Formats: sequence, structure tokens, C-alpha cells
Amino acid sequence: MAASPSRSQSATNFVLVIHGGAGVLPKEDLTPEKEKAARATLDAALLAGHSLLARGGRSGDAVIAAIRILEDSPIFNAGKGSVLNAEGTVSMDASIMDGATTKAGACADVKHVKNPIELARLVMDKTPHVLLAGDGAEKLAKEHGLPLMPADYFITEHRKLQLQRVQQLERARKAGEKKAQAHGLESIGTVGAVALDQHGNLAAGTSTGGMVNKRFGRIGDSPVIGAGTYAHNLTCAVSGTGHGEFFLRSVVCYDIAARMEYQGVALTNATEEVVMRKLKDAGGRGGVIAVDAKGNVAMPFNTEGMYRGVIRANGKPWTAIRRE
Ligand code: ASP
Repeated sequence: MAASPSRSQSATNFVLVIHGGAGVLPKEDLTPEKEKAARATLDAALLAGHSLLARGGRSGDAVIAAIRILEDSPIFNAGKGSVLNAEGTVSMDASIMDGATTKAGACADVKHVKNPIELARLVMDKTPHVLLAGDGAEKLAKEHGLPLMPADYFITEHRKLQLQRVQQLERARKAGEKKAQAHGLESIGTVGAVALDQHGNLAAGTSTGGMVNKRFGRIGDSPVIGAGTYAHNLTCAVSGTGHGEFFLRSVVCYDIAARMEYQGVALTNATEEVVMRKLKDAGGRGGVIAVDAKGNVAMPFNTEGMYRGVIRANGKPWTAIRRE
């Protein structure tokens, strides 16, 4: 395995890759103004992470800086603007993994933490655990002074309408209406980031409100290390987005790293094989962003689109939404 941390890494080979969710993007939902706003937010997230990496900062810090901006934006399904569950409330999941130490932290089913990715970092750095959920997770946030917000802060008009539409569709589906079945409404907008820093260290993070209309207590792949997030300096850093149940059952992010480690396949082949064949054949819709220890990047998705962006040492953000 071509593991090349620290020494072979140069000051010009750092890279940050982000996603803002995979899914079908109905034309009526993505007006040119909304597309512009989404891309501007992706740019801002890329630039925030880049400024840290350019100064020799750590990949984990760049990942968190980028994700915080996406969580604070009402556009994406993470932090403010998270999708609503079947009860009409928000419940968020997030995780972070450091490829140098393989330490990881995650939180699930949190309802008031402004930046769940910061809580994931606290779990990693300040506890002997990997995943804390619900009230206990929020208690840790409080103990360390992370900003907590009232439930209303996270809820947007757009997400209320989306929940109504999805619940109507669900009722029509149950009543056997064929048209309802053909119309594929999906929750999009989960956010994630992966980075390689100047020291050759990889990191990955993911943050989400989960799936729209999810059952109370449902936890997806995003806070589960190996399923929604994975990083190891020997292989790659990966963050996933899509139908979480499938990512959990296929352990998508670890599968990519394991193929690289055990079979010696390149990042592109490993991600293509997992996302475009294995996950797709199983009926799982979604995509991943990934970077390897040499700075190679892969962003395959088996949906119509995936909000995504890349920034390298030259500091010029690149973003895309549909297939290009
Ligand atoms: N993977 C997320 C979940 O299932 C949702 C998404 O990425 O859109 O919770």
C-alpha cells in the first residue's frame, strides 16, 4: 500500500473537498437564485478551510471550519435548515475522524447544538468514547460551553413545506396512487468535508439532519464511523451522503478504505466500485467525496446530482451540482 504520510507531502499538495448532499434536484426547487446562493455558500466553506490549510493548519480543523459554515447556512440539511422528522422537529447527527490517529468522535439525535460537528470533535477530544447520543451528548456540549439554540432556530419555512409535501406523498402512496410513486422526492443537503493537509494527514467529517419525515429516534449513517465517515492516513478520507440505511448496511466509507488497503486498488476505482456498482445494485442512492494520501480526489454519485466543491493550494474554489 502506498502510504505516504508526513515526509512526502509538500506545501502545495493540500486539498479540501466538500459536499452539500446528493439527491434529485427538482427544477422547481432549484431556481437560478437558489443555485447561486448554494454555490456561494460552498465557496465560502471551501475558502474557510483553505485559509487554515494554507497556513499549515490541520486537516481536521479545516474539515470542521468548512462544515460549520454549511451548518450555519439555512440552505443545507445540517445545523440550521436541517430536514424535519415525522414529528416536525429537528434531530441532528455528526461525526469527525482524524486519519493520523484514527481517533473519531460523533453525536446523534441532538436537537439544540448549533454546530453538531463541534460536538463530534468534543466527543473525540474530551471523552474516551466515539459516539454520544441525545441528552447525554447535549450535556457534554453544555459542559464545554458550545452554543445551544432553541428548537425554532433550526426550522425553516422551506423544510416545513418539504415535510408537508413528503407526508402528502406518503399518504397518496399508501392509498395506492401510482403517480405518487413515480415522483421521487428526496431529502438533500447533508454536508461533509474531507481534507489532506501539508503534513500529509487526512481527516473526514459529516453533519446532517438525516432524512425528511424520519421516524422519531432514527439515526442514519452520518454519525456512524465507517458507514458515513472514515479517515486513515494509510488509505483515504471519505464522507458519504444519501440513503443512510443503505450506507449503514454496506459500511460504505470503510469499504472504500478497505479495498485500498487490502486489494491495493486506487481511490477512483475503490469509490466507483462501491458507489456506482455495489451501493447502486443494492438500491442505495447517494455519493461520496474522498481524498487519498497523495491528494487524489474522487466524487462519484449515483443520483442526478451532488452539491460538491474542491479547493487546492492555488485557492480557487471549484463547485458543481449536476453531472459535468
Ligand atoms: N445520509 C443521511 C442520512 O441518512 C442523509 C443524506 O445524506 O441525505 O441520515
